[in-house]
Amino acid sequence: MNVWGIVVAAGSGERFGGGKHQAEIAGKPLWQHAHDVLVAGGCHGVVVVGDVPGGVAGGVRRQDSVANGLAQVPADADVVLVHDAARPAASAELVAAVIGRLRDPAVDGVVPAIPVTDTIKVHDSGVVTATPPRAQFVAAQTPQGFRADVLRAAHGQPDDVTDDAELVERAGGTVVIVDGEPKNLKLTYRDDIERMRSGWGSA
Ligand code: C5P
Repeated sequence: MNVWGIVVAAGSGERFGGGKHQAEIAGKPLWQHAHDVLVAGGCHGVVVVGDVPGGVAGGVRRQDSVANGLAQVPADADVVLVHDAARPAASAELVAAVIGRLRDPAVDGVVPAIPVTDTIKVHDSGVVTATPPRAQFVAAQTPQGFRADVLRAAHGQPDDVTDDAELVERAGGTVVIVDGEPKNLKLTYRDDIERMRSGWGSA
């Protein structure tokens, strides 16, 4: 399989207070961690989207940034993994597990996910309307992997989404879950990076 990766490292990073992907952890910027783990886990090439050396321009929404990256992925790629630069702690084993699951021809997309530990509430303007059984929920991570043709077709749709799997799900694709990693946190606020720096290498 010809496997390619896309690292999305664009967007304003407003909640972080700017400069998110240039921020370093263990001596490397976040986007570089995301790039390197995709290569270590089996991607033959990686397109980085964002204002970084060698990066391609980002888009307004995350999915626009992914589409810009996808346009640079060679036409003969069989599988494409999409990974957030904001998740610098994913392991190469996780990348390899996502790729491995796509060897099953019945699978169109793969999402690493972990069980949620909090009770989930549904609310309407702050008033709780339901408490669905927690076991039915998992928290989705990246890297998410897809058959390249399925991802390209799904990205032609106008839907507004927060991950690529949702586009593939809406297009009728079969998306399966593999075990994510608790340490594979998404860095959103500036404090998150301090917490990750202090625990780096221990998980
Ligand atoms: O905003 P959010 O936390 O969902 O961003 C997840 C990832 O998507 C981050 O790595 C961010 O750099 C990327 N992104 C992007 N282009 C955007 C918005 C977000 O590449 N327009």
